Amino acid sequence: MPRGGRRPKLWALRGDRSGSGPITEAECTTCLDGSGPADDGRGPALWCLAHAQETGHTGFRRIRTDFFRASCDGTAAEAGG
Ligand SMILES: [Zn+2]
Repeated sequence: MPRGGRRPKLWALRGDRSGSGPITEAECTTCLDGSGPADDGRGPALWCLAHAQETGHTGFRRIRTDFFRASCDGTAAEAGG
């Protein structure tokens, strides 16, 4: 059996922490007004409460965006210092 030489590259998908974290956004299901994207869920949640108080709209949709990054282990046999 021929062994060694070319081995298939292994790609892995991981959460991307190099940029911003997950983005959360809220949208009213009645008038489609939105909170705009935020780094955490608190801003959108507060926007929902304020929007409900102002307009009487009570239905909201939460949109959460996560970022992933694919990386390749490639030639793993490098003996680094
Ligand atoms: Zn609304």
